[in-house]
Amino acid sequence: MPNKTDKDLALLKTILWIYIILCFVLAGLNYGYVKSAPEAVGKAITWFWHFYENWIKTAFIIAASILTLRITKQSKRTTMRRKNLRGFIIAALFVHILSPLLINNNELYFFAMPLPWTTTPLQLLVEGSSFYTSRFPLWGAAGITAAMIFYAVISAIILIGTLLFGRRWQCSTVCLFNGFASEVFAPAFPLIGKKKKIQPKTTSLLMLLKWAMFALAIFFTGYWILLLSGVQTLENYNLIGKIEIYKYLSAELLMMMFFWIVFVGRGYCYYCPLGTVLGFISKLSGQKIITNLTKCINCGACNSACPMAIDLQSKAMKGEPVTSLRCVGCGHCVDACKTKNLSYTTTFLSKLSSK
Ligand code: SF4
Ligand code: SF4
Repeated sequence: MPNKTDKDLALLKTILWIYIILCFVLAGLNYGYVKSAPEAVGKAITWFWHFYENWIKTAFIIAASILTLRITKQSKRTTMRRKNLRGFIIAALFVHILSPLLINNNELYFFAMPLPWTTTPLQLLVEGSSFYTSRFPLWGAAGITAAMIFYAVISAIILIGTLLFGRRWQCSTVCLFNGFASEVFAPAFPLIGKKKKIQPKTTSLLMLLKWAMFALAIFFTGYWILLLSGVQTLENYNLIGKIEIYKYLSAELLMMMFFWIVFVGRGYCYYCPLGTVLGFISKLSGQKIITNLTKCINCGACNSACPMAIDLQSKAMKGEPVTSLRCVGCGHCVDACKTKNLSYTTTFLSKLSSK
């Protein structure tokens, strides 16, 4: 007879399946069919897409966080995980519920990640771009200004937060793309097949992809900035905007879902352009995993727990800090260590704790 944990896990996997299927179906209809659909049908699809993105997604984040905590606390410490899940719930309530209600705009989640993740906010400043042309009749000048203020506030929160708390702030607390998915559904991976560890060869390939995606992101960002500043005169911006949408749907949304199912939850985080930038900012913040709080017993639990395939064990054996650019600060290694040898910190956090 299935015990309580098995039932929770089955429910968590079901929610994740529904989330993925709804995402594919609604994104497909929204981006592929709405323009050619009869007006009423198109409006209904777009309404449901927003309802899904804001209300259903937030409900899933809350329900899945509760299930994940119930499942993981049976066998592990969950100190860091609890903090992550609390952060994602607050971020979802703020971005997907509270702000849309206050600003009367259901699409604010387009603006929840700073540059260079998406150039949508820059496109909104180019009169004549297809994004501006489609949104101006709906939002008006005041609505566009409100969306840009929202974007500036979110970007400032993420940048200042990362300088103080490291990449953990965005990637394990606030990110409503791959960050939340990999944390709130963590015990449900992989949905198909057995759990696989990402091999060093795959990690190297993902690192190549990371730099390719970063170069692309910089190219698109540079294009819109030059256009806005009047330096760029090539006004083929609607084609560029279209290419960006296809890049998002294929290399980002689809691949992220693919990695959720086949590998581990953090597949996309290996090559996310925003993650790459935040990795460098987290260096400035002094982010590291301290490894010499007690004694390492060489069990390898930290390496097994790390979703970013970082080798903590060899550093822990020598008592050296782990300062990988890939570290998303999830703290799974900290929770997994049986001897409580590990701790996540930044310069600001160390100063806080020494007071
Ligand atoms: S790497 Fe990108 S997708 Fe992953 S958690 Fe960070 S910001 Fe989000
Ligand atoms: S090193 Fe620890 S905190 Fe960093 S990604 Fe791996 S498990 Fe998460």
